[in-house]
Amino acid sequence: MQADLVVDASGHGSLTEALLNSIGWPLPQETWIGVDMAYTTALFDIPEDAPPDWMGVRTLALYPHSKRAAILPVEGKRWMLTLAGRYDEKPPGDRDGCLMFAQQLRTPTVYNAIRHVKSVPEIARFGFKGSCWKHFERLEKLPQGLLPFGDAICRFNPIYGQGMSVAALEADVLNRLLTAQSAESDGLAGLAAAFFAEAERLIDTPWWTAAIPDFSDPRTEGQRPSDLEYMLKFFAALLKLAAQDAAVHKLFIEVQNLLKPRSVYRDPELVRRIKVVMAEA
Ligand SMILES: Cc1cc2nc3c(=O)[nH]c(=O)nc-3n(C[C@H](O)[C@H](O)[C@H](O)COP(=O)(O)OP(=O)(O)OC[C@H]3O[C@@H](n4cnc5c(N)ncnc54)[C@H](O)[C@@H]3O)c2cc1C
Repeated sequence: MQADLVVDASGHGSLTEALLNSIGWPLPQETWIGVDMAYTTALFDIPEDAPPDWMGVRTLALYPHSKRAAILPVEGKRWMLTLAGRYDEKPPGDRDGCLMFAQQLRTPTVYNAIRHVKSVPEIARFGFKGSCWKHFERLEKLPQGLLPFGDAICRFNPIYGQGMSVAALEADVLNRLLTAQSAESDGLAGLAAAFFAEAERLIDTPWWTAAIPDFSDPRTEGQRPSDLEYMLKFFAALLKLAAQDAAVHKLFIEVQNLLKPRSVYRDPELVRRIKVVMAEA
């Protein structure tokens, strides 16, 4: 198929890599964070004894354990239960196993909410080996008119819920660049370089906000940042501060949800307050 612009949004990037291989061009370098995670998702009718005022529940993992869960209401008056864990703590794919898994969570909230559920008609499992950032921005050349996109550039650990948001932001960037370049005489020239530069900036915050907690588990594979110990303590103190100060909590949520870059954590006053909490630990 002839086209001026081919966007590889195939999710894994292997189409672009197969093309690069076939013409003997270099492949992008990869940064890898191996997490070996599995999900089980179950859909069932909301139990009659469910608390009427719940909007959703999340139980986070408490290191060294990785078991976590979430319940969210979905269409058809059903709940979507998601269980997740890593390595030898992966959730099973059957009702009884899910109940047992829920019993082993950090708090009994999820187990108590689902223990009377009799029938689970839909249940699915999903495995995720690791986050992978393919550094197309470092390649010296890429065939003109070819543009890897979204997960084809960077696949994030889904536990942090970032990938769709990054893909949407990239779509916004691409729209802006295409609109600007359509007025230029040389059309698509330089599009990929401009896009990858902006995509790299977009990926930076979600990548690092996920990498730091992922690397807190010694089993996680990949190149740890040299300042990891400091960063773990910094984030632990940031979370403590967020629990006490609504403005810090809002800032943290804004970074997690990609509304602000992680550079806001360099604010001198915030750093000073975080260091006070670090010193108390
Ligand atoms: C379990 C899980 C939970 C997640 N939760 C969240 C979340 O809460 N929030 C969030 O923001 N992100 C989340 N994500 C990440 C998000 O789903 C992805 O980042 C996002 O879907 C990436 O979009 P994409 O278009 O790049 O790729 P995809 O959504 O993977 O789409 C790629 C499409 O290309 C198709 N395709 C592949 N090869 C070919 C081919 N050769 N020819 C034609 N079609 C092809 C595939 O079938 C697929 O439909 C989650 C991911 C997973 C796995």
